[in-house]
Amino acid sequence: MSVTVFSQLDKSLHEHLAALERLAATGDEETAAELARAELPRVVAALKALLDEHTPDEHGRCPTCRTNRWSRRLPAPCRAYLGAQLALTATAETPGRRRYLRDPV
Ligand SMILES: [Zn+2]
Repeated sequence: MSVTVFSQLDKSLHEHLAALERLAATGDEETAAELARAELPRVVAALKALLDEHTPDEHGRCPTCRTNRWSRRLPAPCRAYLGAQLALTATAETPGRRRYLRDPV
């Protein structure tokens, strides 16, 4: 894939994610609920697909990450896996947020 094509894809992906963030933060309740139903499953699917690429193999090493083509696989969890996990859990302790995850209605 050429750099230009990748740049365009990367730009449109980031614009899409920015739009989702903006709507989630500033949209009214109805918009937020529709956004969650329509877009959250797609975001989860995308994240799962990425994590699948970085799930440790039988030797406990990431099958995807290497420092270069000839190097050994890196010990898992790799930075990609840890980064995703941190991004998802870092706000878990924020007061008043994510209570729905602990206290199901
Ligand atoms: Zn990895």
